[in-house]
Amino acid sequence: MSQHFLLSSAAKTLNLRQVLRMSEDQAFETFKAIRWADNEGKPFCAECGGATVYEFKARRIFKCKACQAQFSVTSGTIFASRKMAVRDLLAAIAIFVNGAKGHSALQLSRDLDCQYKTAFVLTHKLREAMAAADKGAKVSGEVEIDGMYTGGYVKPANYRKDRIDRRLAENQTGKRRVVLVARERNGKTLTFVAKSEAEGVRGLHDRIALGSTVYADEASHWDAFHARYETKRINHSEAYSHDGACTNQAESFFSRLRRAELGIHHKIAGPYLAAYAAKMDWREDNRRISNGEQYSMVARAALMHPVSAKWKGYWQRSEKNGGAARTDWLND
Ligand SMILES: [Zn+2]
Repeated sequence: MSQHFLLSSAAKTLNLRQVLRMSEDQAFETFKAIRWADNEGKPFCAECGGATVYEFKARRIFKCKACQAQFSVTSGTIFASRKMAVRDLLAAIAIFVNGAKGHSALQLSRDLDCQYKTAFVLTHKLREAMAAADKGAKVSGEVEIDGMYTGGYVKPANYRKDRIDRRLAENQTGKRRVVLVARERNGKTLTFVAKSEAEGVRGLHDRIALGSTVYADEASHWDAFHARYETKRINHSEAYSHDGACTNQAESFFSRLRRAELGIHHKIAGPYLAAYAAKMDWREDNRRISNGEQYSMVARAALMHPVSAKWKGYWQRSEKNGGAARTDWLND
């Protein structure tokens, strides 16, 4: 293989049906091609970078001549200490990529006939790898900003006399968060989570390159943008678009995120909100490239991403901390 795998036609057309027809050996070769794409698919040592590597075919293990380290095709990646067969991991990526509005762990566990816990951690590892691709990134040019509040819902009491004013701070759960988006018109989308739009102002500043033109709605906390960027406002009580000023693309992202919340994950607030949002912005930005290329990008991102401090051994740690009582994952 002399061509970079990700540029090959095999990478552009990879799909679930092909993966499911692969033998474990073929899946293993595909994994190698993706992981070591920059080295023509040839493994090198994960410890010292040594290029002379022995392969123990039967066990699908490699050993470095220089430092004697043994490693597998997933060592040092986000799939380290995996329990799934390589082919199932490839299938999981394909299924995950195919769900245009996202894919729930419950559904994935049924698709792959694996434990719910395995699917839950696996989908979060994929989201982590996808989000990492945007770390430190900035948007520029014409940028729309907006926020979407989610979570912390307080159910109104049945009888009117029992109802409380849910707008008052003391009657709120403190769990409400806002997803902030900075979206280039016809370009890249960046998201993050804050407690309020006003608190998100600085984070938006960090993600928008100087010299950009920012489009925002009439909310007063966005006034802070005028000193830093050319800023155009649209008052939504008067119009959704006026003289080129609008935040329609930011809002179309949120409507997609909202639909994913309602239709797929049911509840995306709480500790994983940022991860779901990042996954959706990845989807949004890559929606026009082929499924096969999306597939290869996610697989590549996962295999280039180091072991996850957060998700490796998640259930073992969780159980030690009495984790069976955790319910934050039940809705995914
Ligand atoms: Zn080595």
